[in-house]
Amino acid sequence: RAKDLGGRRVEVFAAQMHADAVRRLELAADLQRALIENQFAIEYQPVVDLATSRVTAVEALVRWWRGSTFVPPEQFLGPAEDTGLIVPLSEWILREACREVAAWRASSWDIGLSLNLSARQITAPRFVETVSQALEESGLPASALTLEVIEEMLVEDAEETISRLSELRALGVRLAIDDFGTGYASLAFLRQLPVDMIKIDPSFVSGLGRDETLTLLTRTIVRLGHDLGLIVVAEGIERPEQLEKLREMGCTRGQGFLVARPMAARGVDTLMRTSLQSAL
Ligand code: C2E
Ligand code: MG
Ligand code: MG
Ligand code: MG
Repeated sequence: RAKDLGGRRVEVFAAQMHADAVRRLELAADLQRALIENQFAIEYQPVVDLATSRVTAVEALVRWWRGSTFVPPEQFLGPAEDTGLIVPLSEWILREACREVAAWRASSWDIGLSLNLSARQITAPRFVETVSQALEESGLPASALTLEVIEEMLVEDAEETISRLSELRALGVRLAIDDFGTGYASLAFLRQLPVDMIKIDPSFVSGLGRDETLTLLTRTIVRLGHDLGLIVVAEGIERPEQLEKLREMGCTRGQGFLVARPMAARGVDTLMRTSLQSAL
């Protein structure tokens, strides 16, 4: 009997594994098709200067509608990375976002672009050339582009990744560490990196005003960033209280649903018109 049950369990397990494998293959095939059929879109989330509320940049965030279902980036970026599709996808995002932000800048709106990099993209052949080509074609100045990486990328494949990023920085591109505080890079290591900006992870920002430890940690990160001469961006600002605390801490910039949600290019157009109008 016990044997039967065990056999049954193995069968169920094998069926489950089979179903997972099929789902992964389907997702990979769908991703490939999505790329060919231009099913991807970019949304832009404004980043503001906390002292002046001016929009300093927009962060490009990829969007995928698989038929009529929205698939969050966290669900398809892993498979895209595993299949290598992340490379052409990221290249499309890079070109498209550079082009759109260059057009906004041409309307005399002084904003920058932040892009998230994937590990595989950085180590792909001709990564540096691809970025400098996208800048050249779009006319976006290198100094208006910030590339975001997470700590893990700087620790794994560290030498190659850091040397590629240093080449880009030599071109004038800025570098940011995204989700700062959640990784395992040591402070000593961080100090040696060619970085211009840190983005404080929402897991710290969420506790502002509610949790003493998280508030203290956020304050410490802001101070550390400033002591290292870095621009400090707080991510995931959802409540007025968080905004207030961050301003009081002297945090440079902020991003979050309270400030502005990610929006399609058309939404950014509208935002630009109101921003330019209010600047007059
Ligand atoms: P991230 O780079 O840390 O981006 C911030 C994420 O937080 C975005 O989620 C954004 O929509 C969300 N967010 C912004 N403000 C708030 C807030 O106030 N509250 C909450 N709860 N969330 C907020 P999204 O678009 O789902 O992206 C998730 C992650 O996927 C990104 O995290 C980034 O690591 C990755 N990703 C997104 N687009 C791209 C891309 O084009 N290329 C690559 N390689 N990765 C991307
Ligand atoms: Mg980011
Ligand atoms: Mg982040
Ligand atoms: Mg993240």
